[in-house]
Amino acid sequence: MTETPNYDGKFDAIVVGAGLAGSAAALSMAKRGLSPLVIERGTSPGTKNVFGGVLYTPTIRELVDLDDAPLERYVAEKRFSMLSEADETALSLRPGEWHDEPHNDSFTVLRGEFDEWFAERAVDAGATLLTETTVTGLLRENGRIVGVGTDRPDGRIRAPYVVLAEGGNSLVTERADLKERESRDHVAVAVKEVLEFPAREGVIEDRFRLTDDAGAAYNYFGEGAVGEAFGGGFLYTNDDTVSVGVAYRLSDAAASGQRPEETLNRFKSHPAVAPLVRDARTVEYSAKTIPEGGIESVPDLVHDGAVLVGDTAGLVLNNGVHLEGTNMAVESGVHAGAAIATAARQGRTDAAALSGYPSALSRSFVVENLERYAWLQEAAVADRELLFAELPRAVADAGAEYFRMDRDSKERHADRARERLLDAVGGYTGAAKLAARYRKVIA
Ligand SMILES: Cc1cc2nc3c(=O)[nH]c(=O)nc-3n(C[C@H](O)[C@H](O)[C@H](O)COP(=O)(O)OP(=O)(O)OC[C@H]3O[C@@H](n4cnc5c(N)ncnc54)[C@H](O)[C@@H]3O)c2cc1C
Repeated sequence: MTETPNYDGKFDAIVVGAGLAGSAAALSMAKRGLSPLVIERGTSPGTKNVFGGVLYTPTIRELVDLDDAPLERYVAEKRFSMLSEADETALSLRPGEWHDEPHNDSFTVLRGEFDEWFAERAVDAGATLLTETTVTGLLRENGRIVGVGTDRPDGRIRAPYVVLAEGGNSLVTERADLKERESRDHVAVAVKEVLEFPAREGVIEDRFRLTDDAGAAYNYFGEGAVGEAFGGGFLYTNDDTVSVGVAYRLSDAAASGQRPEETLNRFKSHPAVAPLVRDARTVEYSAKTIPEGGIESVPDLVHDGAVLVGDTAGLVLNNGVHLEGTNMAVESGVHAGAAIATAARQGRTDAAALSGYPSALSRSFVVENLERYAWLQEAAVADRELLFAELPRAVADAGAEYFRMDRDSKERHADRARERLLDAVGGYTGAAKLAARYRKVIA
């Protein structure tokens, strides 16, 4: 029988989870001369990971050379669609500069491949990766966190620092009372399929009007996307597959009994979506939660002997306009790793010694962006009926009316289109109030 190595007390830090935040923290520490142990429950990093998704790379490309990274396509088109039951009204953005490097730092990836590659970079830098091991709890001595319990035969592993990077479903962190369980209003349930097109080469390029390694990120909202729930649908092109999914508030899912797999099937059958996924075969199905409480739900980031990073710390911007967690996960991991290295140099493990991490994060785009959009989700939930049901219908009706081809005058068509829109938003006063309420999205 082979002996299992004993990891207890052999490392400077333990990282729980080899997702983006965990590997970034490990890389950050290893580059500063520390020796971190990364513990991942999956058979390899990324196997347990679910995401849309677009990887945003402004921080990660400062850490590693992305030239040989398993990126699928760069995002050359962003499209936002409002769906009523039968209509689509879309805004498509294809700025020419997105074809040039660094491609707006936006790439579709498959996490099974990307996370493994990224974790290997941490190992190259000096980290140790332990897979197929689940962290079951934290070890404390006199209140200070001093290591983790695992499901391995040798169980306990002690180290001066623990980085909690277990993602949004942060059972270890919650059980240790380092954060409260999120309310269902602040969590989205997401389901996603990866689809392939067995029938023919070039089908993705043809359907999405793409050439070479350019890709598309389509976002959908409105009742045609996720029914009456607060949320949306997405469709992203990978190299030779597409990722399609829906994400919506857990409380809505519970209240309406709206089952995620049924919602996804309905979304895929919408007249605007069905032609894009026709004749596709599902090769992967996954489900996960997304924290979307924003800045209000970010818990204390540092404790004696531990830090929280990425989704575990609620660092996700998910507001209907943006869905960004990958960039925040990496940024937080980098700052957390740097703060641990500073504390280690001082021979300290107390929370105060780790405070460089929250300070750096609050000066970064992470906190700035979360603060900027703190109001948006609440406003959108309050206006849900208008934004997700009335407006998509009214905009589609008004568009159809404006361009209606008959023997009536253009003026009468324009009048009727305007009336339809004003009717939906409560006249000119309602329109002005709505514009004032949402002006901060762009101003
Ligand atoms: C459907 C969906 C679509 C998304 N789309 C996008 C997008 O397009 N762009 C974007 O930027 N963000 C997107 N996000 C958000 C993004 O995926 C996350 O913000 C990001 O993955 C967070 O990284 P993380 O490292 O904090 O957590 P994770 O990526 O969740 O990694 C956590 C890791 O910890 C491991 N782990 C968990 N518990 C334990 C344990 N007890 N012991 C050992 N290992 C453990 C897991 O297996 C996993 O590998 C999406 C999320 C979802 C669910």
